[in-house]
Amino acid sequence: MSDEIKVEDLLILGAGPAGLAAALYAARADLNPLVMTGTELGGQAALTDRIENYPGFPEGVGGAELSELFQKNAERFGARLEYDTATEVDLTKRPYTIKTYSNEFLAKSLIIAVGASPNKLKIPGEDQFRGKGISYCATCDGWFFKEKKVAVVGGGDSALEEGLFLTRYASSVTIIHRRDELRAGAILQKRAMKNEKISFIWDTVVTEVKGDQGVERLVLENVKDGKKSELEVDGFFIFIGHRPNTLLFKGQLEMDEKGYLVTDERMRTKLPGVFAAGEVNDPHYRQVITSAGMGAAAAIEATRLLESEEED
Ligand code: NAP
Repeated sequence: MSDEIKVEDLLILGAGPAGLAAALYAARADLNPLVMTGTELGGQAALTDRIENYPGFPEGVGGAELSELFQKNAERFGARLEYDTATEVDLTKRPYTIKTYSNEFLAKSLIIAVGASPNKLKIPGEDQFRGKGISYCATCDGWFFKEKKVAVVGGGDSALEEGLFLTRYASSVTIIHRRDELRAGAILQKRAMKNEKISFIWDTVVTEVKGDQGVERLVLENVKDGKKSELEVDGFFIFIGHRPNTLLFKGQLEMDEKGYLVTDERMRTKLPGVFAAGEVNDPHYRQVITSAGMGAAAAIEATRLLESEEED
């Protein structure tokens, strides 16, 4: 029965940089936060090979290592991690109800930091060969392509960073981009252009993935002249941006046309005590440091709100 459930002051959904930074700040403010980790402890940052733009680590730091440090830091001040995933939320009345695979929780306040997931190309063969040569994470799967030919699609920071990572294993990395100009930052562009294993195919989209047991060929189409061709590869990595994981909140919280949660500059949604932080409400920056900063801000706001409600 829900009225027997202890009401948490603060429940944090998600344990990436935003969720864990929120947990650290909330724990230090004595809110005794409970963090629902979801399936990806550490979030996308934990899947990144090296992070070179998080201040304080002049030599860079492994993504998994940084995530572990975030977690330890939050736990040191009493944040509790629950290794479970929210499956249903009811935000129609406060305290809010959060159902997970194995439990039900009530919370006076909520920080939604559930991040984003990789976009799909939505082309024939993509679902069929996922895990059989198609991957969305070079750090996770690069090792399987030792001395093999791989292709990467995308022209942003992820495509280049992950493409560079893949050169450790693969014999060649072909980056396929739909324009003739990269979106990625200058440093990554320079590194990729200099790398002998990397080549580029410009103005081209992948329209189909073909193979038998696994990926064998990509069907390509030049967007300028419409010419079709095929590229033989053993692996295909897709890095074409992300979409926020907000399906759970559809109809209950305001979202923009791409599904990002809408908050004010203080991380507040329109519902009292419901905050959002990190990639779930950030279509602009999507960096570890900005997500962590948003998490800290959301926790400060939650603390202030709960304190003011206690005084009343
Ligand atoms: P992104 O910057 O949105 O780039 C996505 C890339 O995929 C773009 O080049 C885009 O092409 C292409 N694309 C999108 N849809 C496509 C489709 N259907 N078919 C073919 N190509 C498609 O995404 P991201 O690279 O994942 O980066 C996300 C954010 O994380 C960015 O803010 C980025 O700066 C940040 N990030 C930073 C680092 C770092 O600082 N080291 C590393 C990774 C990510 P167009 O260019 O034509 O739009």
